[in-house]
Amino acid sequence: MGVEPFLLASTLALAVAQRLVRRICLSCRESAAPEASILESLRARPDFDQTIRVLQSEGVLGQAGDSLSSIRLFHGSGCVQCHGSGFRGRTAVFELFEIDDRIRAMIMERRDASSIRAEVIGRGMKTMFQDGLAKALLGETTLEEVFRVAL
Ligand SMILES: [Zn+2]
Repeated sequence: MGVEPFLLASTLALAVAQRLVRRICLSCRESAAPEASILESLRARPDFDQTIRVLQSEGVLGQAGDSLSSIRLFHGSGCVQCHGSGFRGRTAVFELFEIDDRIRAMIMERRDASSIRAEVIGRGMKTMFQDGLAKALLGETTLEEVFRVAL
């Protein structure tokens, strides 16, 4: 950003990233079992195991062996309230981490953003995708919306 590292390291307390996703219309929301291809693409993710652990620890997913087998996803079928779109309004998916001494040191060393992000993910930070998947499982948005904004 062209800012001296010591200025960032000494003034930042928290780093936050967020994206907006469309919120499913509550007047026409329906749940359905996800398609097999969606489950496959989730299982193929390199962060799959950690994602399951995060969602289980939040109580969004059950603790059962194959916790994905019985999940429900949601969509809006379209109604007068949402002008047939199935969506009304927006909600945010986000990730955040505290700037502690280790992160402060990485900033001073001019480490790039992806190494810093890898460091905080390794410590268990919930990623934007995991936050979005939780919101999809809770019926707030669709998994397609989450895939659109979060890798
Ligand atoms: Zn609707």
